[in-house]
Amino acid sequence: PRGEATAILPTGSKHSPITVIGTEPIRSSFDELCLQQAINSRTAPGVTNLVLNPDAHGGYGAPVGCVLVSPTHVYPGPVGVDIKCSMSLLQTSLPADAVIDKQTRRALIDAICERTPTGAGKGQRNAPKSRHVEEALGKRVLTEGASPGVCRELGIPVEWASRCEDSFHVGHDDSTGALALRLEKLLPHIYQFDAKISQLGSYGGGNHFGECEAVEVGDDQRSRDIAKTFGLIDGGIAFLSHCGSRGIGHSLATGQFKSLQAKFEQWDIPLPGKDRELVYAPLGTPEANAYLDDMALGANFATVNHLLINALVLEAFQEVLPGTTGELVYFISHNIARKEIVDNRPAWVHRKGATRAYPAGHFALKGTPFAETGHPILLPGNPQAGSAVMVAEAGAEASCYSVNHGAGRQLGRKAAKRELDQRQVDQSFADADILSNCRQYPIDEAPAAYKDFDEVLRSVKSAGLASEVARLKARFVIKD
Ligand code: 5GP
Ligand code: MN
Ligand code: MN
Repeated sequence: PRGEATAILPTGSKHSPITVIGTEPIRSSFDELCLQQAINSRTAPGVTNLVLNPDAHGGYGAPVGCVLVSPTHVYPGPVGVDIKCSMSLLQTSLPADAVIDKQTRRALIDAICERTPTGAGKGQRNAPKSRHVEEALGKRVLTEGASPGVCRELGIPVEWASRCEDSFHVGHDDSTGALALRLEKLLPHIYQFDAKISQLGSYGGGNHFGECEAVEVGDDQRSRDIAKTFGLIDGGIAFLSHCGSRGIGHSLATGQFKSLQAKFEQWDIPLPGKDRELVYAPLGTPEANAYLDDMALGANFATVNHLLINALVLEAFQEVLPGTTGELVYFISHNIARKEIVDNRPAWVHRKGATRAYPAGHFALKGTPFAETGHPILLPGNPQAGSAVMVAEAGAEASCYSVNHGAGRQLGRKAAKRELDQRQVDQSFADADILSNCRQYPIDEAPAAYKDFDEVLRSVKSAGLASEVARLKARFVIKD
């Protein structure tokens, strides 16, 4: 036990315990599937650490809301099918009272939806004012990420790259060349590559969203100082976006699952916990190299996707409220594996629905704008409970420098549709004066489908992982 962090491990296990972050009510919210997946993941080959965060719930192979560390193996499951699903926050120059009037908010929703479509399969063809990206530029997006050249071609401010946790990703041998070679090899096998490229600058469906926020910075001096470094404006309007690598990331990830599953079968390798989603590849093998390359290609798309969405959202604000300016606060992912240092040695840290949390003075922040504060952590809750901007504390070492990526689901989609009432959900949005692009709010995305955000925040703070810098209060939500 460490503060509110406790540990579980299978009886008689030779493994070190799983670190669990959560207050008592949160710990008892973990479903059976989540706990079984945590144990399968912890005891899988080459895994040295597993952290279960307060937002944990059953996922594919590994729980959503976990951190899996291995110095020797790479695991596609604990990255998932939406490679580099991320959050980004744009701070505008607008004061909160500029976005109260209902007509203004409606105009903003329309202007944003004309540029960044929502919905599964939707892309630039569904958004008359988006960009049009041809195949050649699409290939550069996948191999270069947010390079200055790619940013200029797409009208993204080049300096936003310095506000990305990672603005580009390289191949298994640390080169961009490896990615170009891999992409050429893959191209003939990617179904409708053109259509997937044309999804650049779109949210996708389900849990992905754009949300207009009023920013409330904490009253204490430390929060105010940190907010200043982050570029947050107290009493201002910001915009939070949640999306990932769309169809291209999905096809790269599922391609990897299929080919690894076929190899496990062919070579008769036992699956950890008999779970087909927990396939893996030992580092240095052709299989691991191919996976790392495909993950990097997907991650590069997700990066440029977020930056383009932010550029388009800013254009939409400028169309409705001329003179508005905006700066990216941060772009941070929650579905990715990265080589980091854990327990004094290099290891692949897989964050599945988990956010990196480097505190002030962490060596990896050297040379970034956040070396002396720690980087911004963007933590969505739900539109009605609000969201938070946090900063890591030294205690984050206990969770392999990670925190949760949200409140996490407490009701599955089917259960939400069964148990929640559409009229009540819509009424609760009207009562809270939060507008949305949807005529009926998607019931499986209702706030009640997610865990109690205050309890989740209490879990993070009481474990000493991070503290709150600002609260974000939703003014309108864009969802599928
Ligand atoms: P994911 O879908 O990536 O697993 O989780 C994203 C997190 O975002 C969820 O755990 C939930 O707390 C949060 N979330 C989902 N929908 C919304 C929304 O519309 N607005 C806000 N602020 N947060 C949301
Ligand atoms: Mn996603
Ligand atoms: Mn996500």
